[in-house]
Order: sequence, then C-alpha cells, then structure tokens
Amino acid sequence: MIPYGKQDIIQADIDAVVDVLKSDFLTQGPQVPAFEKALKNATGADYALAVNSATSALHIACLALDLGAGDILWTTPITFVASANCGLYCGAGVDFVDIDPATYNLCPQALKLKLIEAKEQNRLPKVLVAVHLCGQPCDMKAIHVLAVEFGFKVIEDASHAIGGRYLDSSIGSCEFSDITVFSFHPVKIVTTAEGGAALTNDDTLANKMALYRSHGITRDESLMENTPHGSWYYEQVTLGFNYRMTELQAALGVSQMARLEEFVATRHRLASRYYEKLNDLPITLPYQLPNTYSGLHLFVIRIDLSRISKTHKYVFDELRAQGIGVNLHYIPVHLQPYYQRMGFKLGDFPQAESYYTNAISLPMFHGMTDEQQDEVICKLTDILMGK
Ligand SMILES: *Cc1c(COP(=O)(O)O)cnc(C)c1O
Repeated sequence: MIPYGKQDIIQADIDAVVDVLKSDFLTQGPQVPAFEKALKNATGADYALAVNSATSALHIACLALDLGAGDILWTTPITFVASANCGLYCGAGVDFVDIDPATYNLCPQALKLKLIEAKEQNRLPKVLVAVHLCGQPCDMKAIHVLAVEFGFKVIEDASHAIGGRYLDSSIGSCEFSDITVFSFHPVKIVTTAEGGAALTNDDTLANKMALYRSHGITRDESLMENTPHGSWYYEQVTLGFNYRMTELQAALGVSQMARLEEFVATRHRLASRYYEKLNDLPITLPYQLPNTYSGLHLFVIRIDLSRISKTHKYVFDELRAQGIGVNLHYIPVHLQPYYQRMGFKLGDFPQAESYYTNAISLPMFHGMTDEQQDEVICKLTDILMGK
C-alpha cells in the first residue's frame, strides 16, 4: 500500500536519538530547549514550548487564553477533532464556522456574519481556532481584523503548515494570532514520533503555557506566593499536567528541522506533478491562495460526481483495493456522534458537508518516488475514466 503520508528518517535522525539514549538526560535535558530554538529560528516567534502532542498544545493554549466555563470556542468543521475538543477540555462551549468552498478553510465572510449575529445574542466566542487545512494558510489578515473588532483571541492550528508562509511571514510567527500550534505526528511534515509545540510572542502566555505543561509547578521565585523554604523549594501555583516532550523526541525534532525546507520543497514538487498530470480528470484540484506558500501536508482532490457514473465511496474503496492508501480529511467534526449529542446536526454547515461528499486525500510524502506517484495517477485515472 502506498500510504497517504509517511515519515522520512535518515541515519542522522537515528544517531541523534541514540546519542540521547547514551546521555545523562532522557527527559528535561538540553534537547527540548534546542528543539524550541530551532522552532523559533524557523518561524520568527519569540517563544516556543515543545509538548507531547498538538492536542496538548491546543489545550494549554486555550488555558493560557483563560478559556473556561461560560466561554465559547469557534473553529472549522473540516479539521481533526482535537481543534474543537480543546475547548471542551476547558469546560467551554464549541461552535463552528462553515468553510470557504474554494480554499476549504474557515470562511472569513461566514465568520463575519456569524460574529454580527453572535454579538446581538451576546454569544461572542472568546477563542477562534483557525486551521490551515492541508498547509494552505487561512486568510489571517481578515481574521485578525475581526479579532480586533469583536474582541476574541486567535489560535492558529498549524498542524499541517510548518514550513509554509503567509504574506511575508513564516507560519508560526504569530503575526496575526496569539498562539500557533504545530503537530509532529509521523504523518505530518516534521516528526518527533508524538509531539507538538505552542508558539507565541507574548511572554505572559508563554509563562502560563510553561506552567500548564508541567503540573502548574514553578521554581521561578517571581511566580511564587511564599518565600522559598530552601534551595529544594518549588510551588504548584495552578493546576497543570504532564505534557512534557522527552529528550529522545526533541533530538529527533532538532535533526528533522534541519531538513524542513527540503521536506516542504519535495511536497511542492510532487504537488506540481499532480497538478500537471491530473488536470484533465473530472476532479477539482486544490486552489492555492495568492501570496502564500503552503506547507502542503495534504493534497486533497474533489471528485466531480456529476461528470462520472461512480460514487465517491466506490472511487475511494477501489483506490484502496488497488494499493493506493488514500484517506479522507476530514469527517465534519459537528457530525461526530459526540458532537451530535450536543445538538449539532446534518445541514448545519452545508459547505463542509458538501466537501465531505467528494473529497479524497492522495498520497504525498517526502520519499515518495515518481514511480509511486505515477502509479497513483494511473490508477486514479483508470478508476475515474473506466467503464
Ligand atoms: C494531527 C492534528 C492535530 C493533533 O495532533 P497530535 O499531535 O496528534 O495531537 C490537531 N489538529 C490538526 C489539524 C491535525 O491535523
């Protein structure tokens, strides 16, 4: 099976991890700060906090923004469930903004209309999670203008987008947001096995996230309530978690970050081959917003079902049966049973639901050969055009 995504591990990555195993620190050593430094260098953000997953990063980001009971978090329905679940972890409510049918990202016009309505009903969101689906940046300038006008905070879920750019800044710079989150799961652009990070330019948010990452415990005297009893002293000043990244993961991350540009360039090369060779098929190829450089985590096509006599499910299952590991990103979150029990239903977000009826993610990863890609192209063409 040609997978839709896969990590690329070279000897330098292996050596970096083995070196840590032979060192004094398996956790809480020098590798995590080194990885954080690599993330700051790549993005221009002032602070980076490595954690054990993007899900954890989203959770501490919401907590740092004081999201809690009585508050509301908004995000897009076309995302991984974690982008919405982080609101529920904090006891907040969750709602969604429908997608733009061209970019598949949260639609800024729909956002504005929903904000005007929410303001009248006194139900404005406290936090918006903007997801850069497939690595394609959201219209962050438009979102930022609305954030200022309506007074909400912005988290960029950039799990798909490390190595990308929006206008003149790198994704992760937080130029138009409060916090940006990355995922380093093996299918993503850069991997640490499991892992994530939260980036910000705000020192207060960075300090709060550092506390939440590690039990709410501090050894920083300026954050303590009491005078230290001795040099052993630490204080728990809030309720935190153990969301720390290990030294093994961070060393892998440092080694992988050295190849970030190469990883994204490969994805662009593969994408341009798809654009060229799939151009005549009854499908919609991904639209790229001008003045952006996508991280290209995913290459999503939409089947034009009105032009063929086959179903979405048939095309998907047939590709899988022929060894092409396609996937579907994502089932609209509001249609998950857990969310339907909260009152969401089919019909709530028509553009997201329409996307779900015909989207397919094609395989694309660093290390994919032209032969493998040609096999994907060939089989897709046969299945779509065959009788
Ligand atoms: C993968 C992903 C996450 C969760 O990442 P983990 O590191 O597995 O917790 C969150 N949001 C999006 C958009 C993702 O793709």
